[in-house]
Amino acid sequence: MAGELVFAPLGGVGEIGMNLAIYGLGDQRRRTWLVVDVGVSFASEENLPGIDLIFPDIRYLVEERRNIAGIVLTHAHEDHYGAMLDLWPKLKVPVYATPFTAALLEAKRQGEYGVPELPITKIALGSRFNVGPFDIELVSVAHSIPESNALILRTPHGNVLHTGDWKLDPTPVLGPPTDEAKLRALGAEGCHVLIGDSTNAVREGRSPSESDVAKTLTELIVKAPRRVAVTTFASNVARIKAVAIAALQAEREIVVVGRAMDRVIAVARETGYLEGVQPFHGMDVYGHLPPDKVVALCTGSQGEPRAALARIAQDEHPEVALSKGDRVIFSSRPIPGNEKAIGRIINGLIDQGVEVITDRTHLVHVSGHPRQAELEDMIGWVKPRTVIPVHGESLHLSEHAALARRLGARTQMIRNGDLVRLAPGDPEIIDEVPAGRIYKDGSLLIQAESRTVADRKRLSFSGVISVALAINDKGQLLADPEVEMIGIPDSTADGMPMGDIAYNAVVETFDTLPKARRRDPDSVAEAIRRGVRAAVAQHWRKKPNVTVHILIV
Ligand SMILES: [Zn+2]
Ligand SMILES: [Zn+2]
Repeated sequence: MAGELVFAPLGGVGEIGMNLAIYGLGDQRRRTWLVVDVGVSFASEENLPGIDLIFPDIRYLVEERRNIAGIVLTHAHEDHYGAMLDLWPKLKVPVYATPFTAALLEAKRQGEYGVPELPITKIALGSRFNVGPFDIELVSVAHSIPESNALILRTPHGNVLHTGDWKLDPTPVLGPPTDEAKLRALGAEGCHVLIGDSTNAVREGRSPSESDVAKTLTELIVKAPRRVAVTTFASNVARIKAVAIAALQAEREIVVVGRAMDRVIAVARETGYLEGVQPFHGMDVYGHLPPDKVVALCTGSQGEPRAALARIAQDEHPEVALSKGDRVIFSSRPIPGNEKAIGRIINGLIDQGVEVITDRTHLVHVSGHPRQAELEDMIGWVKPRTVIPVHGESLHLSEHAALARRLGARTQMIRNGDLVRLAPGDPEIIDEVPAGRIYKDGSLLIQAESRTVADRKRLSFSGVISVALAINDKGQLLADPEVEMIGIPDSTADGMPMGDIAYNAVVETFDTLPKARRRDPDSVAEAIRRGVRAAVAQHWRKKPNVTVHILIV
């Protein structure tokens, strides 16, 4: 049989975030591609000034777009579908998603300016369908958002299980548990390769259940003396439902604070995931409810500075305030990189006399990813010949691989951009495809390798001095040089104005230049740049960025 099955991650391997995987069928001259997930990563302010979002570089897919059969989204987490609205217009290929994912993507699109409608084919949970030559079957898995799916790809060369994000939770508050029967059936049918979630591979045992979290939340809300605010990922509909049930038991009303939360709740109601759950209120009601009759459900669990909780913690929210004796529950865990921002919010709340409860002391959050005993169950059921760990940093990937080998599976380690032949034969890396990162900078997309952000970092470290000189064609200064400084200390340790030091360096450097060189603007500019840099560095032990403009009159 002709051709082969290949796989390449363009993001999500060696990192947590920005998941984008491609599968190819055919021979190396002409392959048809299936794209699984188009996710985003979040930049923290300190690392990449001015950048909020990081996307996988899809230049390879843009080149190959005529050969792409479609995009399948496993679930609606940002690290799996968050780059769709920005990147899909470059590909314009069919999109396949389950109803909740499709509805949330559409709701998000409507909240953004100028994004075209996406041609989404809605696929039923657990269904089997074709995308070009790919025969795909969805396997429902428990996770931390409704409708998370693993994919079974059946090809003439063998079957692949792409797990997506999953965990085992026999009692999820919402949606079906992981479909063990279907996974065992795949094991009986034969699974050539499992490509799987490694996020929690370093953690022993099993994750607690969403139901355990729901119990703790109920207890904390029923016993709270005054107001309660709960913050969680807006997309965690099971958690929202658990808070709603707790509020009902405590005879409290739910007030929703934050746009992302409103959006998810609207979509969850529309798709039936909050059926039977009492109606929630808008923020306008908050001020009229007695303190022991309210639960505020807030966005901002990751410390996002513009989200509801950050503004409440700074006492800057127009409608919602907390005060001494109120209780805030972080039903979440910091994504690495967000700890400082979350810490600022917690401290702000504590300074207001608010009691803060986190998962350090109470079971108010569980991860949506499998720990070791769950990974063992999965491999035991599916019995893959080879396991390829993805969705994790190096440590997570290597722990996942070690576990798989203990269970007798082969393993293949890969990195973003590796092209792996999955079949026929045992998987091996055969080539590389272009992969990398793109930054969303304001409304523009820029290559991570471009100088923009590196320059911005440099400027933030040591400021800038700009110098302007007017010279005539005989090489004489026509006026006093102009020196402007941004982000430079005002004076030296001895109290000398730094502006004077820069100015004197300009004049002295110019005066010492031989007459002939003074008529060459490039040469003058370079000499002055060096002169100013050296003079300021002598007093500062740091080198400023210096720009020199020469005007020949
Ligand atoms: Zn997820
Ligand atoms: Zn994920």
